[in-house]
Amino acid sequence: MANTHLYKPNLVIVISGPSGSGKSTVIDSLCKTDETLQLSVSATTRNPRPGEVDGVDYHFLTRAEFEKSIQQGKFLEWAEYGDNLYGTLKSEIADARDAGKDAILEIEVKGSLQIREQQQDLAPARSILIFIVPPSFATLEKRLRRRDTESESELKQRLDIAKSEVLEIQHYDYWVSNPQGGIQQSVQQIQTIISAERSRIDAKLIETLNPLLGIDSVD
Ligand code: 5GP
Repeated sequence: MANTHLYKPNLVIVISGPSGSGKSTVIDSLCKTDETLQLSVSATTRNPRPGEVDGVDYHFLTRAEFEKSIQQGKFLEWAEYGDNLYGTLKSEIADARDAGKDAILEIEVKGSLQIREQQQDLAPARSILIFIVPPSFATLEKRLRRRDTESESELKQRLDIAKSEVLEIQHYDYWVSNPQGGIQQSVQQIQTIISAERSRIDAKLIETLNPLLGIDSVD
């Protein structure tokens, strides 16, 4: 997928969207079809759902452990969602870079905005913010009920958060629809966005080109 001979992975691809918008399924599919993507495994204080594995789905931490990591400056971003804390460890982004891959993050809106604000610190890495728009709130509710992983009050809380999250879409670079039964369409849209972003002419590309052209540095 990448323009292999010139492209040096340096993207931090942020995928957001309301709970139930299908983010995880879309990201799973993206990672399976594109070996240049590496999923950033988030840390959280929420309890594992049945089948979730520590270190694979999340790094499950106690609140005390999470707060200690905040104090130690280990997070690129973190946010409270519902009654729990969620955050991206800087080490996850470094691991992706060391592996020569673009990092892909599934995070909520407040965390995404923190990443956007840190654009300077991320350099030469570059963030791209993509928002998955669900077909309707009724569909979201139906999906969350079918998933059956939250209590009634948690579900209501997630739907309320969903509404406030959609209002923040103006801070994102791209939106992608996730129509009912249309996961493949969302995956293809995101693949197209990533492919275009990998073809951007930026400082990193110039850095790659210079030695090829026999140029040491450019003012
Ligand atoms: P869930 O409990 O459904 O796994 O996740 C709840 C919300 O937290 C989702 O919107 C998910 O995208 C978000 N989330 C997951 N990991 C992170 C993270 O590292 N940082 C932030 N800010 N949000 C996250």
